[in-house]
Amino acid sequence: MNCFPDLIGNLRVREHIVRTLCQHPSHAYLFAGPEGVGKYHLAVRFAQGLACPQAIEQPCSCQSCRQIAAGTHPDVHLLLPQGDTVKLEEAKRLRDWGQFQPLALRWVINIIDQADRLTAEASASLLKLLEEPPPQVINILVTSRPQFLLPTILSRCQRLSFQSVPTGQIEQWLRRQGCTEAEAVARIAAGRPAEALRWAEKDQWKKRQRYLEWSLQVASDNSPLAVADKILKEKDKQTLVDFLSVLLSLWRDLAVGPFDLAGVVNRDQATNIIQVAAGRPSYRWAEGCLSIEETLELLGTPVNMTLRLPALLLVLAQT
Ligand SMILES: [Zn+2]
Repeated sequence: MNCFPDLIGNLRVREHIVRTLCQHPSHAYLFAGPEGVGKYHLAVRFAQGLACPQAIEQPCSCQSCRQIAAGTHPDVHLLLPQGDTVKLEEAKRLRDWGQFQPLALRWVINIIDQADRLTAEASASLLKLLEEPPPQVINILVTSRPQFLLPTILSRCQRLSFQSVPTGQIEQWLRRQGCTEAEAVARIAAGRPAEALRWAEKDQWKKRQRYLEWSLQVASDNSPLAVADKILKEKDKQTLVDFLSVLLSLWRDLAVGPFDLAGVVNRDQATNIIQVAAGRPSYRWAEGCLSIEETLELLGTPVNMTLRLPALLLVLAQT
């Protein structure tokens, strides 16, 4: 049985979906698991597979598959967060779609990405649709934070749990696509194929080198505020996420490097890591990791990063 063979990882989920496509699908699914492991992508392929058997074998570019991917298919509705939340008006559209009869397919399919960002009103609206599911409707909720969904919503969905993809699998997958830095990129991707593809791009890889240099600068208490200025000057949330991710990977390396050099992510910096790590006890580096993780969590909230980032870098540089 071919189960989306062009994708990697989460084989059991893919097999389950292909079995479902051959039988009758449920009314509601929860695709839950870490970010960047392909949940949303597989939800779209699932919808494509309901319309076109070809989509199970390989990425398909027939008219129906193209429309589904672009969000223009009359029977497949993609609901993505506008800004930071999925608002009531959007969820009301969902309920309206519940009244629709499919035009081209056997089902009306709603894919709700980042379902944990539904506002309270939107959640209540979705719950009504799940409580009395019209027979022609399939809802797919996608989330990396299922704990933020209402228990009453969770209990009405069939849950498919996604896992991180092993680094070795990502590395081989990148090699097949001609990536020259496959080993290093796979380690940085930390189990997330979508991240691997992003970091494998030449420009992004150059950025990583730059962020790594600046992170080492902070670790050596060398002008941390100047580093914060350079990042904030970009005025771009993705830059912040990327920089903090690289910073976190370096801080983890500084915590574990002296004990387990083979376990470090940024192996091209092994010499620097050993040298800088020796300047502090390991638990201090580990504490720094927690502060960086906290700041990464705050990126989804309205916290003012022009204050938070310099404060974080100052603390990291001096403790
Ligand atoms: Zn197709």
